[in-house]
Amino acid sequence: MTDLQETWYPAADLNIPLPPECYGYPAGTRDQNQPIAVVHHIAEGYFSTLTDPGFWLSRGSSVHFAVAKDGRVAQLVAIDNAAWGNGRVQHPTWPLLTPTNPNLYTVSIEHEGFTGDPWPIAQVDASIELTRWVCDVAGIDPSANTIIGHYRIDGVSRANCPGTGWPIDTILYQLQHAQGAIFTPAELATIRRTARHQARLILQEHRRNGTHLTTTQHVAYDATDGRDAG
Ligand SMILES: [Zn+2]
Repeated sequence: MTDLQETWYPAADLNIPLPPECYGYPAGTRDQNQPIAVVHHIAEGYFSTLTDPGFWLSRGSSVHFAVAKDGRVAQLVAIDNAAWGNGRVQHPTWPLLTPTNPNLYTVSIEHEGFTGDPWPIAQVDASIELTRWVCDVAGIDPSANTIIGHYRIDGVSRANCPGTGWPIDTILYQLQHAQGAIFTPAELATIRRTARHQARLILQEHRRNGTHLTTTQHVAYDATDGRDAG
C-alpha cells in the first residue's frame, strides 16, 4: 500500500486515465507503486500520440505523465499505480535500483519530441513543476539519483532516452534551489506562445527529414519484461 497525499496532478491540462489493461501486476492491480524516483523520458513522438489511449493499449505499456513541447501536461496513470515504463533493466547505472521491478518504485514522465531536440523553455518549466509536485507528494528529495533519465535503468535499448537535449542541470537546479515556478503566469503565457511556434518548427523539420516516422520505436516499452520481473 502506498501512502501518497494525492495521486492525480492538480495542474494537469488533461486527465486521460488509461484502462486497467495498462498498469499493475497483474494488469489492473492498483496501489502498488511506492515512488522513490522520477524517470524522465523522451518520446520519439508527439503529444497527440502520447495522449491517445489506443496507442498505449496497442503497445501494452504506459507512463504516468506526458509533457508537450508547449508545456501542456497530461496524466494517464495515477502515481500510486505501477505504470509500465521502466520495467526492462539492462546495463543499469542507477545505484538505487533493487532486484524488484522498477515500475513498482518509479514515476514515469514522457516528453514530446525526439532525442537531441532542444527542449522549449515551456516544456522544461512544465516538467520541473510536475516533477516538483511528484517529489512533494511522494516525499522524494530531488537529487541526481532520484531524478533520473531512463538510460540509467536501461543503458542498452534506451541509451538515448532522454538524450542530449534533456536539461537535467536546469531541472535539478530549479528543484533543489528554487521554491516556486520559474516564471510568472504572464511570462509563462508569452513563453508558451513562443514555444508553440518553436515546437512547430522542430516538428516541421522532422517531417521534412522523415525522422518523424520513428514514433513507435521508443515506446516499444518494457511491459513484457516488467511483468516478468514483478
Ligand atoms: Zn524512455
